[in-house]
Parts: sequence; structure tokens; C-alpha cells
Amino acid sequence: MAGLTLKGIYKKYPGGVVAVSDVNLEIRDKEFIVLVGPSGCGKSTTLRMIAGLEEISEGELYIGDRLVNDIAPKDRDIAMVFQNYALYPHMTVFDNMAFGLKLRKVPKDEIERKVNEAAKILDLTHLLDRKPKAMSGGQRQRVALGRAIVRSPKVFLLDEPLSNLDAKLRAQMRTEIAKIHKKLGTTFIYVTHDQTEAMTMGDRIVCMKDGFVQQIDTPQNLYENP
Ligand code: ADP
Ligand code: ADP
Repeated sequence: MAGLTLKGIYKKYPGGVVAVSDVNLEIRDKEFIVLVGPSGCGKSTTLRMIAGLEEISEGELYIGDRLVNDIAPKDRDIAMVFQNYALYPHMTVFDNMAFGLKLRKVPKDEIERKVNEAAKILDLTHLLDRKPKAMSGGQRQRVALGRAIVRSPKVFLLDEPLSNLDAKLRAQMRTEIAKIHKKLGTTFIYVTHDQTEAMTMGDRIVCMKDGFVQQIDTPQNLYENP
């Protein structure tokens, strides 16, 4: 099981910016949590601290019941999907998805099985030999999701994954990500500044402003008591 607990989390950047202030969250195992709020409110910093890409200035972060403040990103059982995809443009889709597994010395036949499984979920099977530079934005974002899925992480972190897509594709990918969440049965933490994304995707929504959590509730309750 991998719920997450954030206890009194702060991030102070060198130079004095307090990006995150006293954030307390209990995220349940398998929950789809959305962090929403205007640009600069601390969403990305919160996600990056959970990923271990940014040091926590104060407070405690638990994944499951393990305190992970000092645990390296690769040992946290998480995978992160970025807005700009962060793919290797000259490697095939297969190799992009296999890359992290190769680094971890996963046996070849297991890599092949996992990549093919993820490709099926994401409708990428016919594109495994293609290179991202010859693909559309939606296809690239699917590859980025695939690269995370093959690692079977306990927690998925997604940082504005749909911001670079046009409105139609964004709507389509919202549904698709919701399906992937159901299928995988893992915890998702999803960052967006888009209210519609938050309201349609989240089991619960965490509203942030100026580094603080303002409100945590289900879409239904937020809709009735905004
Ligand atoms: P959001 O993801 O909600 O747009 P961020 O977490 O990126 O917000 O930023 C929160 C605050 O921290 C902003 O004021 C931003 O300018 C500041 N910030 C973000 N990254 C850094 C950094 N590396 N160094 C200094 N300040 C930063
Ligand atoms: P390396 O990087 O170790 O030289 P490759 O990248 O050529 O190896 O391929 C690694 C493994 O992945 C090989 O077993 C290969 O058969 C398999 N593979 C590569 N591309 C595909 C693909 N499009 N579909 C299925 N398997 C693939």
C-alpha cells in the first residue's frame, strides 16, 4: 500500500522565497489527488519534493509508512510525468520506454514484456519503432506515460501533463488518464492550473494559494460549496 502523508511541509528556496508553507495532506492508497491553483502557488514544488527532486526545508514526508525525506528519488517507488515529455528524441518509442528499466538492469525479456504491456494499454503498439521527433504531441505524451507505467511505481506524479496539447486532445487525454488510473490501481498525484481538469479527474482536489493549502474536498462538495 502506498498512501502518502505530508506533515508540516515547507519549502524555502535560497534567496528567501517560501514556495510551500505548512502543507498537511493524507493521500489514500489508490487515490487520484489533484493539486490545483494559479501559477506560482507552489504545486510544482510540492510535487518535486514528493519526487525527491527538491529538498524539503521542514516537515515530514511518508510514502506508505516510510519516512522518505532523505531517500533518493530512484528509491522512492514513484514515477513522474512532465509537461514537456522529457523524451529522448532520437531513440525509438520502445527504447524510450525501456530506458529506465535498462538502467535498473531489468532482464531483457521482462523489459520486452513490460513495454509491450504498457504499449497495449496506451495504444502505442504500432508506434514502438517510431522516434518521438516524428510523432504528434498526444502520441509523445502517451510515450511519457508509458515510460512511467513500465516501472510499476506505487505512486504516479504528473506535472501539468496536458498543458502542451490542444483543447480537443486535452479532453481526450483526460478520459484516457482516468482509465489508466483505474486500470493500474495506483496512487496518482496530478498538478494542474486547469479547473476543469481538476474537477473532472480528481477523487479529491487540493486547492493551493501562495504556498498554502486553502481547501481539500471532493469535486462534488467543491461544486456545491465553492
Ligand atoms: P506552481 O507550480 O504552482 O506554478 P512553483 O512551485 O513552480 O508554483 O513555484 C512556487 C514559488 O516558488 C514561485 O514564487 C516561484 O517563483 C518560486 N520558485 C520555484 N522554483 C524556484 C527556484 N528553483 N528557486 C527560487 N524560487 C523558485
Ligand atoms: P540495446 O540497446 O541493448 O542494443 P536494443 O535497443 O536494440 O538493445 O533492443 C533491446 C531489446 O528490445 C531487444 O531484445 C530488442 O529485440 C527489443 N526491441 C527493440 N525494439 C523493439 C520493438 N519495437 N518491439 C519489440 N521489441 C523491441
